[in-house]
Amino acid sequence: MTTTDVPFCERYCVKPGTRVDLNGIDANEVGDFESKKQAKSALKHLREDLIKLQERFYAWDKRSLLIVLQATDTGGKDGTIEHVMQGTNPQGVEVTSFKVPTAEELAHDYLWRIHKAVPARRMIGIFNRSHYEDVLVVRVHDLVPESVWRKRYDEINAFEKLLVDSGATILKFYLHICKDEQARRLQARLHDPDKRWKFSKGDLKDRALWDDYQAAFTDAISLCSTAHAPWYVIPANHKWYRNYVIANILVETLKQLNPQFPEPEEGLDDIVIV
Ligand code: ADP
Repeated sequence: MTTTDVPFCERYCVKPGTRVDLNGIDANEVGDFESKKQAKSALKHLREDLIKLQERFYAWDKRSLLIVLQATDTGGKDGTIEHVMQGTNPQGVEVTSFKVPTAEELAHDYLWRIHKAVPARRMIGIFNRSHYEDVLVVRVHDLVPESVWRKRYDEINAFEKLLVDSGATILKFYLHICKDEQARRLQARLHDPDKRWKFSKGDLKDRALWDDYQAAFTDAISLCSTAHAPWYVIPANHKWYRNYVIANILVETLKQLNPQFPEPEEGLDDIVIV
């Protein structure tokens, strides 16, 4: 049996109730691909499926799809959105990037800004960072006491259950890169004039806290991978493999939802437009 005989939806999913071992997951994995070229061509075909499925999903107007992307700095959230969603109809896709909360956001509960951004029926919503920041950066930087962030895993599970019960399908992807790969990517940002704008000295402070972040990611993924809103840990050192795996899981998920074009009105056959 080759590795790809196990569907990606199963292979990269963190089973609810288990503890993920991020160190034990090879960020360099490339599955059965023999070259980047082969994977890129496979992605192109998958995207054609994704575009058709999105068109149906939008017309169907029965459910929403929420995609949560989390990663360490340079993990590839922006690139994933750009390459996986290329060619989909922008009218049906919404991307929300969650930054340091504003004063207004901080004056509310941490899920307030998240709930407002949850996609409506028929939409695919992508969260570039998310409510998980409230158990990641907030925990690592001690922005609230442990007694506050500790409760959030249960709160998040309950919140996501509410969304699913209300018609959302939720997929959560952790883009798993290793520390050496992060060093290469940060260095590349410094060298490339077109990428320098992405470099922030703050990224180095967070890099120094790598182990604390890995511990926080481990807890977030392990405690919040549920049957209703699973976490997937995606090997992401090779961007082309990451894109392929995520596109594959999106296509499989949409196929299972089986969206249908609504029935047209009766009696349209004889209409001639003059
Ligand atoms: P990105 O790195 O996603 O491309 P930025 O460079 O603007 O975008 O970084 C966004 C910053 O906002 C990150 O440092 C992230 O940790 C921070 N952030 C997001 N959500 C929260 C939150 N709830 N509390 C504190 N900081 C947050």
